[in-house]
Amino acid sequence: DRPLAEVDPEIAEVLERELGRQRGTLEMIASENFAPRAVLEAQGSVLTNKYAEGYPGRRYYGGCEFVDVAEELARERAKALFGAEHVNVQPHAGAQANAAVMHALIRPGDTIMGLELAHGGHLTHGMKINFSGRLFDVATYGVDERTHLVDMDRVRETALERRPKLIIAGWSAYARHLDFAAFRAVADEVGALLMVDMAHFAGLVAAGLHPSPVPYADVVTSTVHKTLAGPRSGVILCRAEHAKKIDSAVFPGQQGGPLMHAVAAKAVAFKIAASAEFRERQERTLRGAKAVAAALTTDAARAAGVNVITGGTDVHLVLADLRESALDGQQAEDRLHEAGITVNRNAVPFDPRPPMVTSGLRIGTPALATRGFDDAEFAEVGDVIAAALQPECDVAGLRARVADLAERFPLYPGLEEW
Ligand code: PLP
Repeated sequence: DRPLAEVDPEIAEVLERELGRQRGTLEMIASENFAPRAVLEAQGSVLTNKYAEGYPGRRYYGGCEFVDVAEELARERAKALFGAEHVNVQPHAGAQANAAVMHALIRPGDTIMGLELAHGGHLTHGMKINFSGRLFDVATYGVDERTHLVDMDRVRETALERRPKLIIAGWSAYARHLDFAAFRAVADEVGALLMVDMAHFAGLVAAGLHPSPVPYADVVTSTVHKTLAGPRSGVILCRAEHAKKIDSAVFPGQQGGPLMHAVAAKAVAFKIAASAEFRERQERTLRGAKAVAAALTTDAARAAGVNVITGGTDVHLVLADLRESALDGQQAEDRLHEAGITVNRNAVPFDPRPPMVTSGLRIGTPALATRGFDDAEFAEVGDVIAAALQPECDVAGLRARVADLAERFPLYPGLEEW
C-alpha cells in the first residue's frame, strides 16, 4: 500500500511529466483521445488482478461472479450502441480484434483484400511483415490518383480478378466515408466475407454522425480508444451466425485471460458513448475538423504549397498534402511540435518521399473536442497550424497562442487529488 511515488519515483515522474505534456500541449493525433476519469478509474482498478479465461457464465476460473457482470454490461451496451447481433469485448487491442476475425473466418493462404497501407490502410489489413501479410495472400485496392477517393469500380475489378475470401473496408488515414453498401455488393458478387474496421470512426458511428457499417458487414472490428475515448483495447461486432467462431478465435484462439479492468472500462465507455453529451462532443469533433480543413485551403495555404487531400473532410481528421510545400512531413511535424501541437506525419497517396519522412500530416480533432474545444477554438487552432506551415513563421508567437488555448481548457483538473 505504499504509493507509486515512494515505490518507484522514476515511473511516478514519467506519469507526472506525461500529464504535464498532455495538459500543456494540444493533442491532434487523430487516433488519440482523453479517456474520462470514470474510464481511468475502472482501468486502474483491482479488476486487473482477476483471471477470467472463458466467457460470462462459462469461465475456467473461480471467483468470476463480479467480473462476469462487467463483461455482460460491456457486451450488452455495445450491442445496443451499435445495433449488433453479437459482441466480443475481449480483444486486447484493435490488432488482436482483426487477427481474431481472420483466425475465425479464413485460413492461412487465403486471399484477403484491404486498402493499401500507403493510401490510408492499416498494418493489419495486409502489410507485408504484419501477420496479415505473412499468413495471407494479399490483394490491395487504392485510391484514385486524381480524386484520392476509393474507386468502387476498381475495388470490384480487383475483387473479380483476385477472388478474396475476406474483403476489408476501413482505414487509418482517409477523410471521407466509405460506401459500405457498395463493398457489400462486391463481397456478395465474389463470395467474400466483408469485415469493416471502424477503429477510427467508431465514435462517430455511435453518435449517429457517420454511416453505420453494421447492417452491411459480416463482422465489424474496432478499437475503443480513438473517437470512442475508452480504454486502449479492441472489440468485435458480428452477425449471430459468426458468433461462436469469433468467440473461440479470440479465446482460446488468440488470447489467454481477458484484461477484466479493460473490459470494465469498455463497459463504462460504451455507456458514455450512448449519451447526448457524447454526441454533442462528436459534433464538435466533426465541425473542428472542417474548420482545420478550411484553414488549410485558403489562398495563403495554397500559396505555401499546402493542400488538403480530397479538399476537405467528413470525419474527425484532415490529411494535409505537403507535396508542393517547402516543408516535408517530418519538418512540418517538428514545426508543429515546437509550437505545442502534436500531430503525426503521414504518407499521402502516391507520396514521392520515403515513409519515415512523408509529404503529409494527419491532423485529428477528437482529443481537443473532448477537452471542450468548440468552433472558435478550432478556428484558432486551424489558423495556428496554417501559420506554422508557412515557409517562415514566428514559432514563439504560435507557441504562446497554443499555451493560451491549453490554459483555457484545463485537462483532468484536480487529477492529483483523485
Ligand atoms: N485498425 C485501424 C483502422 C487502426 O487505425 C488501428 C490503430 O491505429 C488498429 C486497427 C489497431 O489498433 P491497436 O493499435 O489497438 O492494435
